[in-house]
Amino acid sequence: MRPLVFAANWKMHIGPPEAREYLRAFFAAGEIPHERAVWFFPPAVSLEAVAQNVAGHRNVVAGAQDIYWEAKGAFTGAISAPLAAQAGGRMTLIGHSERRHVFGETDEQTGKKLAAALAANLQPVLCVGETLAQREAGETMAVVTRQLMAAFAGHSGNRHVNIAYEPVWAIGTGRNATPKDAAEVHRAIRGWLKGMLRTVVPFVILYGGSVNLKNAAELLAEPELDGVLVGGASLDPRGWAQLVRTAVT
Ligand code: PEP
Repeated sequence: MRPLVFAANWKMHIGPPEAREYLRAFFAAGEIPHERAVWFFPPAVSLEAVAQNVAGHRNVVAGAQDIYWEAKGAFTGAISAPLAAQAGGRMTLIGHSERRHVFGETDEQTGKKLAAALAANLQPVLCVGETLAQREAGETMAVVTRQLMAAFAGHSGNRHVNIAYEPVWAIGTGRNATPKDAAEVHRAIRGWLKGMLRTVVPFVILYGGSVNLKNAAELLAEPELDGVLVGGASLDPRGWAQLVRTAVT
């Protein structure tokens, strides 16, 4: 069986006591299959609780949903990569579509955040993806490439960066990309990474956008997908435990 990653983005849900309760229920569902990794991205207030409660569970880690690029200072409401690491975070999402489209984060800012994450030894998951209008205009790869170029502007290519391809029109809408559509973009991203970066390191490329128990097996059967990044369907611990065990042919 090939290794697969199951990443849970809790968005603005599940506070610290709820997180402890969630993880009790999740782990009570049984051991995670050997070749599978589970990454939890709780809200910042719950990061320490999640990190403490996944400690000792093989292949399960906690990460931040977002970081600011400065290490410390007068930036009210923000958390830095070193602060996320202090809370036990090992990873961070960068440039999630809600950061870009709700909070107005720019491509240039995602580049600064990517560099800050790597400097603090947080493994980044860079999120890229097009809007519906961009897809319909045939601009998917132009948009994704622009996002990659900006994020990797100061990157030497010798550090591990995970990518999540998340078409904006598929996030939280109940409308997922087809395995074929996702695979086409994943293949292009892999090609771009190989061409642009001098040192080729293995890149994990996840698909995100309305993944659930019904469509996970079909999506993950596509070998271009190294795993999934899941919002809504990761909020119920038992459902998520089941999704992590999705049988893939
Ligand atoms: C996400 O938050 O990254 C996401 C893909 O959400 P959903 O699974 O709810 O579409």
